[in-house]
Amino acid sequence: MKWTKFFIPTSKEVPADAHVPSHQLMVRGGLIRQVAAGSYTYLPIGYRTLRNIEAIVREEMNAAGGIELHMPALHPIEWWEESGRVAAMGDVLLRLSGSGDDWRSRTVLGPTHEEVVTEIARTYITSYKQLPITLYQIQTKFRGEARPKSGVLRTREFLMKDAYSFHIRLGGPGGLDETYRALYDAYCRIFSRCGLPYVAVEAESGPIGGDASHEFMVPTDAGEDWLVRSQDGAYAANLERAEVAPVADEGDGTDAPLTEVHTPGLSTIDEVSKFLKCTPCKMIKTIIFEADGKPLVALVRGDHEVNEAKLRRVAGVSSLAAATPEVVRKVTGADVGFAGPVGLSVRTIADQAVTVMHDAVTGANKTDYHVTGVQIGRDFEIAESGDIRSAVEGDRSVEGSPLSFAKCIEVGHVFKLGTKYSDLMEANFTDADGKGKPLIMGCYGIGLNRIMAASIEASHDEKGMVWPVSIAPFQVVICALGMGETEVVATAEKLHDELQAADIDVIFDDRDARPGFKFKDAELLGFPIRVTVGKRGLADGIVEVQTRHDGETRRIAPADAVDTIAALIKDLTPTACVS
Ligand code: ATP
Ligand code: MG
Repeated sequence: MKWTKFFIPTSKEVPADAHVPSHQLMVRGGLIRQVAAGSYTYLPIGYRTLRNIEAIVREEMNAAGGIELHMPALHPIEWWEESGRVAAMGDVLLRLSGSGDDWRSRTVLGPTHEEVVTEIARTYITSYKQLPITLYQIQTKFRGEARPKSGVLRTREFLMKDAYSFHIRLGGPGGLDETYRALYDAYCRIFSRCGLPYVAVEAESGPIGGDASHEFMVPTDAGEDWLVRSQDGAYAANLERAEVAPVADEGDGTDAPLTEVHTPGLSTIDEVSKFLKCTPCKMIKTIIFEADGKPLVALVRGDHEVNEAKLRRVAGVSSLAAATPEVVRKVTGADVGFAGPVGLSVRTIADQAVTVMHDAVTGANKTDYHVTGVQIGRDFEIAESGDIRSAVEGDRSVEGSPLSFAKCIEVGHVFKLGTKYSDLMEANFTDADGKGKPLIMGCYGIGLNRIMAASIEASHDEKGMVWPVSIAPFQVVICALGMGETEVVATAEKLHDELQAADIDVIFDDRDARPGFKFKDAELLGFPIRVTVGKRGLADGIVEVQTRHDGETRRIAPADAVDTIAALIKDLTPTACVS
């Protein structure tokens, strides 16, 4: 490919709303063009990388036994009503607008494809003999993301590889566990081949629990999730899920009396702890929720936050939302900000760290009052407790290793669905014993655009992107210095043709421009290998071969250049590994 025949609209301008490096560099390099908030054109140079990622994903999915199909973006809303997800998805589910019985009013844009694939399964998969099977696609998803941000890391339209597996059983041969493991491994291979520094973590999996869900995270400040890891390397989880070791009892055996104190207008932990000169960790935060339609009280230490996913699991409820001020008043008899466990008579779950507190401070269930000297067992009983808070700095893993925290972005997710959709949509098969049973399902997603942006987040410098060889738009750029020099142009062209013949992706920068200008663009675009062909070098019988990631330059005879470059590419290609 010749630069002058291709289309690379690089620019010096960075949009004001581009805060993260991948967004800035993709715009500057002419990889993407924003069309509207959360929707982007992939310009030719950007699309090449996306296609490279797609090829790796497809190869590994096929190798793992996946069978490719293609489902549409337009879905009948009836199927989403069947699965109960019209309400669950809320504004994320985009609908076409139409009135009355216009087809548009009954059509949604697919944010994911469990419904469509389950309908296929219930129609065609009727016998245990057809199982297990994994169907997958690489297809465009639409989501009404409230805040599309960070360039293509979070958009309203994006390319996903989504796979769905169907089984007769959970464990054992041909069971969900087996496919889950195979696809988990395939994901490791995909991300390692893309050169991504990923971490597989335990993810929040809702009511199924256990090891039913893993996310693949790339640590980066541009991320919106938190990765929690133990120092000994044995534990990694999403903050939504991360378990903590129990906190030890710090009591000294002397219990203060229960005392009511006037705290007019002071309703936050911060205000009250300052006013009473106690640290937030001496306070019991009392939060009222509505869980499956009933009030539920959660108690955590003042310096901790309730983790709703954990609370939902410990409480064994499916819906959980902060209670309205009216409900708070009804439950506590006080305004919001003065709730406490003493004298409450609704279901209450205490975090483990609360169960070991002494001389605590908490709301008095009376507007403008708190109580101090609160003792568990004497002033109130704890009937239910568990790990219902988010991990914080200073916590340890269940095995006792200190936890550390890093921002991260989710690039993939594997999930054991069980029979959720087969139950709701009546997708059954006939087992060997002649009985009808619901299909056992797994689902597996990867965001292709996110891989691309996450790769830039993980690999760039002040000059620009630094692509891994496996997904670079071109593996090699040839910079010809002096397009008026016959020998320079002839050598560059010959090299270009030879590299292309050797199946190496190469672009020949044939622009009539200064060397510095060409080098800057080559660095911005992050091509892994740059070959510089100039008059002076040729006089010494060499061309320069430079690697982008370390800046190392080699002086090579033109006749040896192709072999040298082929060997470099082989060396630099990330290997597939499974962690
Ligand atoms: P997030 O928590 O980041 O919103 P999600 O949990 O909703 O993502 P899944 O439904 O698990 O995402 O989708 C599978 C994959 O699709 C994700 O791992 C991610 O790589 C990608 N993805 C999800 N939402 C977006 C988005 N808005 N823009 C780009 N990629 C996305
Ligand atoms: Mg997810």
